Amino acid sequence: MTTDKPFIEEQDIMPHRSNTNATTRFVCISDTHSRVPPSNSIPDGDVFIHCGDLTAHGKLSEVEETFGWIEALPHPVKIVVAGNHDYPLDRKCHGANGHYRIIRAGTRWEEVEELVAGLKERGITYLCHESTTLHINGKPWNIFGSPRVPLFGSSAFAYPKSEPNPWTLVPTNTDILITHGPPHGHPKPKGRHGCPLLEREVLERVKPKLHCWGHIHDDYGVEVFEYGESGKGKGKSSKSPKKGVVEEEGGGEVRRTIFANCAAPWAGRQCQVFDIA
Ligand SMILES: [Zn+2]
Ligand SMILES: [Zn+2]
Repeated sequence: MTTDKPFIEEQDIMPHRSNTNATTRFVCISDTHSRVPPSNSIPDGDVFIHCGDLTAHGKLSEVEETFGWIEALPHPVKIVVAGNHDYPLDRKCHGANGHYRIIRAGTRWEEVEELVAGLKERGITYLCHESTTLHINGKPWNIFGSPRVPLFGSSAFAYPKSEPNPWTLVPTNTDILITHGPPHGHPKPKGRHGCPLLEREVLERVKPKLHCWGHIHDDYGVEVFEYGESGKGKGKSSKSPKKGVVEEEGGGEVRRTIFANCAAPWAGRQCQVFDIA
């Protein structure tokens, strides 16, 4: 779990904001792949989000270690989804006898279930293609998290093209959408990959305040999508907000979505930080 290479850049630690503030600070990271960021590289905030790929080699021990460092973070709310590397967390990657068949280490599904069942008690909200409502700073936030990615090679949580659109399950009132894979083509202008079905659901129906993901490591970046008059997703994208921080106007219909690829561990990148009302 140690590395002699630089991991992510130290950030100017932004002071934690009190509950009287109108905004909630989300600190987002993804694709840590069993590397532990130095604690001074994770800014303080109200909510810590990990968008998946907790492990490098898909071992349950790696999953446990990653949950360990996340548990120790000071953020009052921590939300985690898995990614395509996190095979032990996918029931489908376990054989009929319960054994995890990718890494033949004797791990059984029952052990995984036990680990996942204990996360809430450890202060971690783990979402596996499901939604939850969390009260943060005295306000309800509807959050949907999913590890699912389009099938490509050998992946956990993958869906083939023949499967019905998995994103119709995202509730329309979702404020914060966390996926492991990107919506196709985002963040603009450099995003080239991702799922067109996810993009369509996000822009035409869900329109969350924040959609964060990882998976495509090279496409780290932020895009702010402004909806057009019709509110139907025929809008325009603007360049990354200064320092990755966006203040959203409170109340009323969501008129923009912040898209963020948060894959952090490569080339000294930082966590993505957003203040959202
Ligand atoms: Zn990854
Ligand atoms: Zn991935």
